[in-house]
Amino acid sequence: MDCIFCKILKGEIKADFVFKEEGIFAFKDINPQAPHHILIIPEKHIATINDLNDEDALIMGKMLLAAKKIAKKLGIQSYRLVFNCNADAGQEVFHIHLHFLAGRKFTWPPG
Ligand code: AMP
Ligand code: ZN
Repeated sequence: MDCIFCKILKGEIKADFVFKEEGIFAFKDINPQAPHHILIIPEKHIATINDLNDEDALIMGKMLLAAKKIAKKLGIQSYRLVFNCNADAGQEVFHIHLHFLAGRKFTWPPG
C-alpha cells in the first residue's frame, strides 16, 4: 500500500517519534505549523474519518487520550486538536491523523 504513514510505522521512512502506546503512535510533523506540531496516528490504516466503523471507537478514544498525555508530558495546558477529513478540509495524507498543535496563540475561525 502506498501510504506514507504506514511506511513510517514500518520504519521505511524516518520520523521523530514522541509517543507510542498499543496501536497508537505520534511523531513530529515534518512541516510544523506551530512550535509543537505532532501527528497522532493509529497503527491501523484508516483512510479518512468517513471510513471509521463502530469497532474503531477504542482507537479514536486512545488517540484523544494520547493527545492529553503528550500535552502533560510537554507541560502544556493549551493546544489545538484537528482532524482534516478529505481534500476540501485540507487532508493530504489518507491515513487518519490527529494534529496536535501548541506553543502559540491560535485564532478562530481557522483558515
Ligand atoms: P493533512 O493535511 O491533515 O493530511 O496533514 C498531513 C500532515 O502530514 C502535514 O501536516 C504534513 O506536514 C505531514 N507530513 C507529511 N509527510 C510527513 C512525514 N514524512 N513526516 C512527518 N510529517 C509528515
Ligand atoms: Zn496507512
